[in-house]
Amino acid sequence: MKKIALMFLVAVFVPSLLLAWLAVRSLRDTQMALERQRWLLYQGVADSLAKEADDVLASRQREFGQQVEAMLAAPHAQDIAFTFDDRLRTNWTPANVGFVVTLQGDMSCPSPYGRPAARAFYADNGKFVCNIQSAEVYWNSTKNGMNVANQAVAADNNSTINNNYNSSLGQFFQSKSSLPVKQNLRNIVPQQQPAMTQDENGAQNYSKVSSSEAEFRQLVGDSTEGIVARFLENKLSLLLWYRSPRDTNLIFGAEMSVPRLKEGLKPVPDDLDRALRDDVAVALLDENARPVSITPAGFQANWKHPFVATELGEGLPHWEMAVYLLNPAKLAASARTLKLMLGLLIVVLLLAICAGGWLIVSDLNRHLTLARQKTDFVSNVSHELKTPLTSIRMFSELLAEGRVGEAEKQRSYLHIIAAEASRLSRLINNVLDFSRMERGEKKYDFQRCDIASLVRETVETYRPHLEANGFQVRFEGPDAAITVNGDRDAMAQIVVNLLSNAEKYSDGQKEVEVQLRQAQEPLPYVEVRIMDRGTGVPRGCEEKIFDKFYRAHDSLSSGIQGSGLGLTLARQIARAHGGDVVYQSRDGGGSCFILRLPVANSQST
Ligand code: ADP
Repeated sequence: MKKIALMFLVAVFVPSLLLAWLAVRSLRDTQMALERQRWLLYQGVADSLAKEADDVLASRQREFGQQVEAMLAAPHAQDIAFTFDDRLRTNWTPANVGFVVTLQGDMSCPSPYGRPAARAFYADNGKFVCNIQSAEVYWNSTKNGMNVANQAVAADNNSTINNNYNSSLGQFFQSKSSLPVKQNLRNIVPQQQPAMTQDENGAQNYSKVSSSEAEFRQLVGDSTEGIVARFLENKLSLLLWYRSPRDTNLIFGAEMSVPRLKEGLKPVPDDLDRALRDDVAVALLDENARPVSITPAGFQANWKHPFVATELGEGLPHWEMAVYLLNPAKLAASARTLKLMLGLLIVVLLLAICAGGWLIVSDLNRHLTLARQKTDFVSNVSHELKTPLTSIRMFSELLAEGRVGEAEKQRSYLHIIAAEASRLSRLINNVLDFSRMERGEKKYDFQRCDIASLVRETVETYRPHLEANGFQVRFEGPDAAITVNGDRDAMAQIVVNLLSNAEKYSDGQKEVEVQLRQAQEPLPYVEVRIMDRGTGVPRGCEEKIFDKFYRAHDSLSSGIQGSGLGLTLARQIARAHGGDVVYQSRDGGGSCFILRLPVANSQST
């Protein structure tokens, strides 16, 4: 039994568990791959929209250069150095203030005593553009058509502004290595960041926009144009500059109006893919993580926690194109549902395997029990055959040798021989009948017969044997005939088997009672009760005693011989007659076996 359980565990249960574990793992991997794809898709959207926004700034820069060139080409260009501010603002609205400064730091425009905006510009940027003071700036410039980004910035140069910004977002990663400017990826929720965000060196693509302390002259170098951004009391100040080939010593510049620039950046193009539009919202965030434009309009979220975001670059430092999930719970919910489904499936399969295993084991157990019972049966039957044969041989030898002189003794010995012979034939009959029934060859000779007289006769035939062994036998039954349709011998065999059991399991209480009565409900039937005051059937075995070879009192412990077939045969015969044999315990101790048979109706033959 233990071996079977072990085999089941090793061959079925453990491999099933392993399979289930593999299934869960592969589901998790698939889910991660799907999420990674999703993340890449949204990052791609953020990148391309960030580039579009950055292009707007680049086109402003181009426009500015064209404006300067146009002014220089116009008649009366000689006084441009003094009138540049007015002329620029008249022709080009994105400018707040226009300025002209030489590489040596002489500013000719605007006038420090001019309009308030010019005075403010002078106060804020005057010392910086005149190279009197260096400043903390974000910048890029163009030289011979090449973009020279702020590569010189040391990786560990964490500016005050950047740090302020980092802490304000709480999620901003510190820059650790030099990366391409347009790969300013960042993912706000680090645990959702798939492993693919690592570049070939294993470094993560953290935010790269950082400032450096520099002089204006230094940034200009020998470049032709550029953008310089500064934060003045947390307010963005954006300066465009241009150097014309006509006079390379003069730098023309413009302080951009950030509100007007924001106008130009609106709206985020509403041409998102339909499928994307159902899943995500996109917002352009300024340096304070306030939305400049939102698609779809009216979308609200915790702006500081997008799903993915891309920084615009040095021109607009800390501005981001951010992508938000419209329904963040959807992803988790579908993952949960999938997990739950798989979990349920695995549980059901494991239950099915356990149930199947249990069925197999219990069936095997049944077969083992049956095999053991058969072995017991063979030894029991051999013993049962041997005991009466020994008595018969012994008493017949005594008689044959004439060693018993008294007639009384001779009669008693002959009675014993007859009783043992009938016990022998009863046993042989039972075994033969049982094997016939097992093969389905048992035939009955159905006839109308009086069950009352049949039972009475059988009891009377058995009475001398019982009384000779000290039993009190009582029979109670009607004198009138009760007709049943059945095989006389087979029905007598039932009664004999039950009487024989009453004798065997009497446990010293030598009293056997047989009652016969007729009942009408639900259909007319006859009931024969064979009762004793013996051991009774142990609790829980009331039905099992009708199973073949089953013995509630085994020969070893009880010392009572038996084959475990008597009740099996009795029940099978009764059922073949449309009736049954059942067991009932008796008040006051002992057993009561009830044989029920249907009464034949008067017309039936
Ligand atoms: P056996 O040859 O063992 O008597 P049976 O089929 O006649 O086989 O009976 C099956 C079992 O039922 C017996 O082994 C015994 O444990 C129990 N049994 C049968 N008759 C009685 C009875 N009158 N009182 C107590 N137990 C009984």
